Order: sequence, then C-alpha cells, then structure tokens
Amino acid sequence: MPLPRELPCPIRRCTAPTACNKDYSGHIAEPEREGKLKPGRSTGAIAAPLSAVRPALLLIALGVLTVAFLASPARAQMPGLAQDDDRSPTKLVLLGTGNPNATPARSGPAVAIVVGERAYIIDFGPGIVRRAAEAARKLALPALKAENLRFAFLTHLHSDHTAGYPDLIFTPWVMGREQPLRLFGPRGTEEMTKNILEAYKEDILNRINGLQPSTERGWQVNAQDAEPGFVFSDRFVRVEAFAVCHGSWDQAFGYRFTTWDKVIVISGDTTYCPVVAEMAKGADILLHEVYSQKAFEEELSADWQAYHRVSHTSTRDLARIAGAARPKLVVLYHQLFWGGVTEEDMLAEIAADYDGAVVSGKDLDVF
Ligand SMILES: [Zn+2]
Ligand SMILES: [Zn+2]
Repeated sequence: MPLPRELPCPIRRCTAPTACNKDYSGHIAEPEREGKLKPGRSTGAIAAPLSAVRPALLLIALGVLTVAFLASPARAQMPGLAQDDDRSPTKLVLLGTGNPNATPARSGPAVAIVVGERAYIIDFGPGIVRRAAEAARKLALPALKAENLRFAFLTHLHSDHTAGYPDLIFTPWVMGREQPLRLFGPRGTEEMTKNILEAYKEDILNRINGLQPSTERGWQVNAQDAEPGFVFSDRFVRVEAFAVCHGSWDQAFGYRFTTWDKVIVISGDTTYCPVVAEMAKGADILLHEVYSQKAFEEELSADWQAYHRVSHTSTRDLARIAGAARPKLVVLYHQLFWGGVTEEDMLAEIAADYDGAVVSGKDLDVF
C-alpha cells in the first residue's frame, strides 16, 4: 500500500493546533566528541525510505557517525581511562543469558558493562529494557534505568540478539532519554535501524506532533556498520570489535572492553574460534557462549549437529579457548540446554579439560 504523501498532524484535525508542528527537523544528531574519527569514513546520513514521501522525514535518517576508534592497538589495561566520580569498579551485568528458546528465567541475550554513570549494552534480545530496569532497581545501578541507555554494541543480527531493538530505541525515549542511541554493529546494522524507524514512523510522528511531552532527539539512532578493530572510546571505555565464526553469517563480532580496572571479552555467538582466545589473553573476564558436548552427541539430530558444530561452542572447545587465554574468570552465557543437561553438567565437562575459574551465568548476575 502506498504511503500517504502527507503524514497528517493528528492534533491539527483535533483541537490544539498550536501543539502541531513542533520542530520536527529531526536533524542528524551531532556526534559526541568521544574518540577519534576514523579516517576516510563517511559521515553521511542514511535516508529513511519514508523520506521519499515527506521531505521533513529525510531527517528521520540515521546520523551515521564516523567510527570512533583508537590509534593504539595496545592490549594492556588503560591507565588513561577515567574512573567515575564515585570510583566504583566496573561491573559486568548479565541482563539476559538466554537464546532463541522462550525460557522465562533467561531473558534474550543482552549484557551491560557499567562504569559508574554509564552503561554499555551488548546485544538486545527480547526483554532488554525491562531486565535493565530490574537491574537498575535491584542492583542500585541507575546507569541501567531506561532513560540512561545510550550506548550499544551488537554482535550479529540474529533475531534472538536483536528482537529487543525497537524496545531499546523507543522505551528509553518515552521515558525521557534526550540523546540519540549510539550503536555499533556488523554489516546490516544501519539497514536494520533504518527499517525499524520506518516501521515505527507513525508512533514517532504521533509522539512528536501529538500532546505527549517528548524529547526531540531521543528517538534517533546513530547507527554504524563497523569493521573489526577499535570502534569506540570515551573517557570510561575503549571498545574493540573482532570477527568471530558464527555459521553462515559473513560477519559476526565479539567485543573486548577495556576500562580503568578491567578487561572484559564477550564472545558473542561463535563456534570454536582461536581469535577469542587471543583477545582474551590476560582478560579479567571472558564471557562465552556454550553448549554441552555430551548433549550435542546424545540429543541432536544430524542436521542440528551440523548447524551447531559450525555456529556455537561446545564445552570441550570452550575448555581449549579458556586454556589458551587463561582469563581470571570464564562466565558462561547463552547456554544451550538440550535433553535436560544442567549448568553443573556443563561446568563439569569444562572442568575435565580446564582447571581455571568458570561460573555459569544467570540473569542479573554481576561480575
Ligand atoms: Zn544467539
Ligand atoms: Zn546467533
């Protein structure tokens, strides 16, 4: 069905014409002055499809920022990074340790790295914002209140990791977020963002032109298709993306976060991938996905074995990764429970080949 040429202001048809036509310039968000700009990378905006029918909506387009990246490839902890004013230690918060299965106790894949006042979200499976709100309250972490969710990193575009994306864009806006969401991800992130904004255009227009008080820029997204390497820095974190091996995806990322007191490496979804061990050498925490080798052999049909063998990491292979990296702590997430296998079973399988510290993560665990 063709789009209307004019998206009417609903208030104009009603009783409060002066409420119409709030500044809907939708101007592209200015990049924050954080990190260095990647040489040669365009800062051009992505035009949203509905721009074809309403010029003003050209400006719904995403503000595609240049990638902030660092010149130094140093792997060491970064003494130049700031502590927050309260000098609190960096926290890794598991917002969702689930997978595509709709397990009530395990929300969709999402984690947060919290440094004082700021939260950095990695993946946004279903339930992301409510789990973050729960963590904000139960763990006394105001950085995870909805309106404070401003920075996100995506490992790959599988739906279990992205089904919470509209939630991450719009719920914080409705709750008062003033700044655009800033997001880095693999190829396709910009396109997904553009299409989500297009899908929600009626909601955006209604909230901006209607009676509801709303911030001007909180619905915008500065989305960036990133490449492996340093992708972002601010005064609290330096973030490096690295390519992992996830089945037929041509690009999927893991991330290495460095803060003033911790190095945290997140595998994303990957099969056995030696680069993860390389990135996790000397890390404080390696957060890694996993499935049970025993359950894989006993419970899966040949076609599902073929899929998982190249897409996810067995307990046996995770022990190899951990043994090569020797992080201070391995945390399991995105656990695939087949045939009644338990966390204890997985930990025992890993312990058979690796003697370091390993714990199985649950939603709202903090490390
Ligand atoms: Zn997944
Ligand atoms: Zn996946």
